[in-house]
Amino acid sequence: MSQWILRGLKTGIKTTPYPARAEESAGVSPGFPVKTNRPEAEARALAARCPTAALRHIGDRVEVDCRRCVHCYRCIRGTETPIDWEQGYEHSTLKPGGAVLGAAFEHSIHILVVDAGDCGACLNEVRQLNNPYYNMHRLGFFITPTPRQADVLLVVGPVTDHMRLTLQKAYDAMPAPKCVMAVGACALSGGVFGPSFVAGSGVADLIPVDVEVPGNPPAPLAILHGLLVATGRAP
Ligand code: SF4
Repeated sequence: MSQWILRGLKTGIKTTPYPARAEESAGVSPGFPVKTNRPEAEARALAARCPTAALRHIGDRVEVDCRRCVHCYRCIRGTETPIDWEQGYEHSTLKPGGAVLGAAFEHSIHILVVDAGDCGACLNEVRQLNNPYYNMHRLGFFITPTPRQADVLLVVGPVTDHMRLTLQKAYDAMPAPKCVMAVGACALSGGVFGPSFVAGSGVADLIPVDVEVPGNPPAPLAILHGLLVATGRAP
C-alpha cells in the first residue's frame, strides 16, 4: 500500500484542468469543419463529398451542420481543396427554448444514460467521464441507474424502434425540472443509421431535446461541456 501512496505522490495530479482552464493536450478532440467561401464549382464539389449532407453549398459558400457530421474526413482527405477545419471541443449548444437546470443543482446532478441503439462509440466516450483523467465527480456529476433520481437524461444512438418505448418511459418517469441531452450525430440527426427501417432521425423525434452535443463520437470533454451547458455553468 505504501508503494501506491509513494507512486501517487510522485505522479501528482493528472486530472484535466478543464473547465477551470482550457485543456491543451494534443488529440483531446477531432474538431469540426467550418463554413468556408470558395469558388462556386469548388463549393459544390466539397458539398458533394459529404455522405450525410452535413455540408451544403449556397452559391460560393459552404455551410456546415455539425449535428450531421460523422467525422469521415472526406472533406479534408483525398481532395486538393480541403475545407477549413477548427479544433476544440466546446461545440454543445442549448436549443432555442431548451431548459437548463438551476443553481440549486450545481453540486449534485444525477445523469441517466440511455443507449437508444448506439454503436458503442458514444457510450464509450461517456464512460470515460468516470475515469481519473476526466473525473466528472469533482464537478458534481454522477450516474444514476434510475429515472426517478435523474436530473439529466443523456441519450446516445438514433433511437431504434425497439428503444422508443423505453426512452419515452424513462423520460416520463423523471421528476421535473429535467434536462435532455442528445449526444452524438446519431442522437441528433440519425447519423448513418437513420432515418431508416429500424431507426428514426434522432431523439428530438420522440422527446424534447434541451442540449445538443455534436460529434461522432463526441470527445469526453465535449460531453463534459454539454453537461456544463445543461447546468448553466457554461454559456
Ligand atoms: S467530415 Fe465527413 S461527414 Fe463531416 S462534414 Fe466532412 S465529409 Fe461531411
